Amino acid sequence: MINDLYLPGGMVTTGDGVPGVCARHGEPALRRQTADFQSRPPEWSYALLLIAVLPFVVVTYLLRKSMMATGWPFCARCRARARWLRLVALGLLVAGIGIGYAGIRYPGHGSLSTWGCILSFAGFVVALMHAGPSRIARAEVTQDGLALRLRNAAPAFRAALPPAPLAVGSPAPPPSWAAGPARESHPGW
Ligand SMILES: [Zn+2]
Repeated sequence: MINDLYLPGGMVTTGDGVPGVCARHGEPALRRQTADFQSRPPEWSYALLLIAVLPFVVVTYLLRKSMMATGWPFCARCRARARWLRLVALGLLVAGIGIGYAGIRYPGHGSLSTWGCILSFAGFVVALMHAGPSRIARAEVTQDGLALRLRNAAPAFRAALPPAPLAVGSPAPPPSWAAGPARESHPGW
């Protein structure tokens, strides 16, 4: 997307030059915190969720690229959203366990309780994933693991970034680090 921003891995992991403004909402950061950013699971992996939760978790874990950000700015809205999603995840987990228990205790609605259980646990995994820093900050590690892609970054965050560094001895300025890497082979992600 045209509004996407790419930050080099070094900038993200050290926190040097990362503005004190939320990248998603453009509001002042409530505080900076360590965030373990992940790459986005491939779209097809969500189909595994319909089969079972465990294969989805395994595939997502095996294919993911991580980047540990020190001092990432999260605003009050981000923190409220994360808290709310964690509550939803907890509710779905409790519901899944409750439905499973009821299915064992009162057999007779076998398929109903099985599906209720599967949907609750799948919902739990999805809610927990959305409560993670990558989804909250709308930041994902690129498939090569070298940069952090900010989807639809807030203009205030963009404006607060330091100017792109110039390479010494280079006849022309290098491409801005805010531009997307040309080598990315899956622009749709
Ligand atoms: Zn925010």
